[in-house]
Amino acid sequence: MRVYINGQFYPEAEAKIPVFDHGHLYGDGVFEGIRVYNSRIWKGVEHVERLYRSAHHFLITIPHTQAEFLDKIRETVRTNELSNAYVRVTITRGNALGLDPRNVTSGANVIIIASALALYPESAYTHGLEVVTVSLRTPSSDVIDPRIKSLGRYVNNIMAKFQANMVGAGEGLMLNTQGYVAEATGDNVFVIHKGRLLTPPASCGILEGITREVAMELAREEGIPVEERLMTLYDLYNADEAFLTGTAAEMIPMVKLDDRAIGTGKPGPITEHLIRRFRARTQEEGVPV
Ligand code: PMP
Repeated sequence: MRVYINGQFYPEAEAKIPVFDHGHLYGDGVFEGIRVYNSRIWKGVEHVERLYRSAHHFLITIPHTQAEFLDKIRETVRTNELSNAYVRVTITRGNALGLDPRNVTSGANVIIIASALALYPESAYTHGLEVVTVSLRTPSSDVIDPRIKSLGRYVNNIMAKFQANMVGAGEGLMLNTQGYVAEATGDNVFVIHKGRLLTPPASCGILEGITREVAMELAREEGIPVEERLMTLYDLYNADEAFLTGTAAEMIPMVKLDDRAIGTGKPGPITEHLIRRFRARTQEEGVPV
């Protein structure tokens, strides 16, 4: 594997960042996870836009235009000769010891990794995931806005994943600090209720997922009404169908939550239809590598 770091490619074993990197020391950085399907960067422009919004919020200057950045992602995929890949982009503030950002004089560190990734086996997509609600809450936006895809925030999600793993669940569902359903540790959550597609609004403290946007678009194209609304666990337990969306997980049915079957306890027909449409679309669209 060849890894991009600050303008150069390095073999994996030599791909190293300074010990004073602020992302490494303090979680002071932002990132993106992007998929490549069929030699096309799926939603490449949208991911780069979100990356720049996250960096802007943190006053981190990325030393490239968005178009140049997309080219760097392209180059990383090409040099690794991958037609299907998971790309991880990390931008950190730069190098300095001490919290004070004024000490960071190096400029941002830019790292791009492209590798293969299958998050779940195919059987998880056909049978669906059993999910548990975890005790960790998503941070409220006056602490760290969950719309920022920031490095530091994810320690909370990793703890949440530990809790899900502890009971052998496929994913952990997180509530926000008010107790409303927010998102899974790395995915957004959707339910089908009486023919409508429901998902928590961005304002309740979630990452505004790019796959989430696609799921809503596909549903609208199918004539399924889409509503962003606050939900409690009651709404999920009593939904007809449910699924999760994320770049890594893609679209995956959720068939059980906290030991309650959702609907029939099997992937629902609308979910399955949307997943088929999603998979077809990922093969057709995207920015050519
Ligand atoms: N929520 C969280 C916390 C995530 O980390 C992710 C993955 N990026 C998502 C939702 C899904 O977002 P996307 O569809 O853009 O990958």
